[in-house]
Amino acid sequence: MKLKPARLQWRKGMPFSLDYDDIYYAEGSALPESEHVFLQANRLQQRWQKPDSDYFTIGECGFGAGLNFLNTCSLWCQHKPATARLHYLACELHPLRAEDLERLLAQFPELADYSSQLQKAYPPLCSGTHQRRLNFSGHQVQLTLLFGDANRTLQRLYRKNGFRVDAWYLDGFSPRCNPQMWTEELCRTLAIFSRPGTSLSTYSAAGGVRKALDSAGFQSQRIKGFGKKRHMLSAEFQAVENLPTPPVTNACFIPPPAIQDERQAVVIGAGLAGCATAYALAEQGWQVCVLEREASIASMASGNKRGIVDCKLSAGHDASAEFYLHSYLYSISLYQNLAEKSALDLLQPGLLYLAADPGERDRRHKILASYGIEHLSQSLSAEHATALSGIKLEDTTQYFPDAISLNPVSLCKAYLQHPAITLQNNQEVIRLTHENASWHISDCKGLISRSKTVIIANSQDALHLQQSKHYPLLSNYGQLDEYPHSLESRKLAHMLSGRAYVIPTDESVLIGGLTLADQFEKMTLDQGAKQNLALLARVNENLADSLDINNRISSRAALRCSSPDYLPLVGPVENTALCLELFKGLSRNARQPLVEEAVYQPGLYINVAHGSNALSFTPYAAAYLSALITETPAPCSNRVADALHPLRFLIRDLKKQRLPA
Ligand SMILES: Cc1cc2nc3c(=O)[nH]c(=O)nc-3n(C[C@H](O)[C@H](O)[C@H](O)COP(=O)(O)OP(=O)(O)OC[C@H]3O[C@@H](n4cnc5c(N)ncnc54)[C@H](O)[C@@H]3O)c2cc1C
Repeated sequence: MKLKPARLQWRKGMPFSLDYDDIYYAEGSALPESEHVFLQANRLQQRWQKPDSDYFTIGECGFGAGLNFLNTCSLWCQHKPATARLHYLACELHPLRAEDLERLLAQFPELADYSSQLQKAYPPLCSGTHQRRLNFSGHQVQLTLLFGDANRTLQRLYRKNGFRVDAWYLDGFSPRCNPQMWTEELCRTLAIFSRPGTSLSTYSAAGGVRKALDSAGFQSQRIKGFGKKRHMLSAEFQAVENLPTPPVTNACFIPPPAIQDERQAVVIGAGLAGCATAYALAEQGWQVCVLEREASIASMASGNKRGIVDCKLSAGHDASAEFYLHSYLYSISLYQNLAEKSALDLLQPGLLYLAADPGERDRRHKILASYGIEHLSQSLSAEHATALSGIKLEDTTQYFPDAISLNPVSLCKAYLQHPAITLQNNQEVIRLTHENASWHISDCKGLISRSKTVIIANSQDALHLQQSKHYPLLSNYGQLDEYPHSLESRKLAHMLSGRAYVIPTDESVLIGGLTLADQFEKMTLDQGAKQNLALLARVNENLADSLDINNRISSRAALRCSSPDYLPLVGPVENTALCLELFKGLSRNARQPLVEEAVYQPGLYINVAHGSNALSFTPYAAAYLSALITETPAPCSNRVADALHPLRFLIRDLKKQRLPA
């Protein structure tokens, strides 16, 4: 996950790249050149007057300081088609540090309104996909930054039934200084994301670039370059048969094509998962109806007074680690955005993590060091942690300055305020039947709604629906206790986490951590509170001793739903009977290559099992699911998508010869 930030030097007030031994741009000409080479050569303004789709997607290789992006956004705000949305996807191998970005963008005061938004949304320097939503005076633009090698990061996003790009900008450092980028392979990758009519432009007129583009199916021509430059290239993609696509290891996880003719969906369940999904779809321009069984939203697992948004860690650089880290970064950014426009009850006190033992402490330390992300966390000595937290801490801690606590009910309300979402309470969905290309959604009295696209987001109650009853969902009780401040807890300036967690607010302090599988029935809230305090004592004895169990303000227990591999189930719902037949060979030979594509329930998706981390996981999971449903750029790579795929459990069971009843 480590990447090398841009090594930038200021020479006579102008930015110079030490990585490529080249200037970023010539003095005084950056914006007019960007306009000539990219905005005009791709005929953006004309094309936006007659949009042929609800989304316009631009792809860029060489994001740099985002000048082309900002210039494009400025044009978009002036000439945006009434209902369309702009998706901007950009690759950057050596992203600028935030402080360099700020200094560089300060040279363009005419873009100040736009660049301030970019700076606010700019992700930490960590490799992979970072999706952010920027708001320019009411005009939304979705920016997906791919930090890493352009060819590789793009390939990791390629899906057979995924989004396609309308216009490409090739703006890396020149082929002379940066030959690694301008390869035939990259041009072929651009081609698989293109459709007939996709345009491309670049300031370079190098013969090698032109040849590579032409051989990948772009028809290029030399046109007048900017200023004193004689030529540049402009190209259009022509249909090409048999373009080589990136190798697929598990074809069974290729999602089905989306059903887009209605652009409306029904979501079952108004907890964190359902509300986040509805919001993500609404942000892509869909109309969404949320059906909730209870009289109020977020009244089950999502009904706690407050929860922590923190970063779960996983050793290794596998899909889980990528999901944990990127979902945390994504959710923090989304919540800060939402807090600006709604009454989101959010506090950002930062979090101190106290490991259970030296082994755990060292493991976590190694993982964080391997990420190499500045500002994500700091290792603090006991003295430093004590000074920061306000209470005596005995051991080294990890400090996460951006960790947030928030009220999940206020979050669900904020999501559902989106004008494209309607909510229907007291609607318990008990049956889904697929008739005449639509899902018929019924409660115990009969039909309540119809939709071609339905998302099951009702947590462990998904087991009561015929189509999702086979998933191995687990349920654990958890309990959160609220106390009035003691003298000790009043001093606490940050959240604490470890075996138990502590969330201080102005009025009170919340203690959680307890997880029970089966024995909850036998446990009262008093007993649960006692256990929570016992766990807290192992994190900080003084704090636990200072709280009076008989003086609690409240205690609340609820079921958390999780999966056997601790990752949520997010994606299309398979047709179990047909998939069992299709993949039955796995029972005989678990190593059989998964070359067949799965068969799905048309238009049916699921988003459940967020365990104890729904506040970090659900925004990212919802953004991924909505990208799948709307065929827009996903916020995650394909390996994360495969790791979340609901079908993984059926495949696992077949391999282990554990067939569902
Ligand atoms: C004590 C406790 C503390 C926690 N602390 C944290 C924390 O600090 N940080 C964190 O990230 N996570 C925390 N969690 C976990 C988090 O709260 C849950 O993972 C999350 O709320 C799950 O959201 P959900 O939408 O999947 O499920 P739910 O919130 O349970 O929502 C499911 C919804 O579906 C509805 N529904 C069910 N069946 C139907 C049907 N047939 N038709 C229509 N509607 C239906 C339900 O009424 C419910 O509203 C905690 C959980 C608990 C219990």
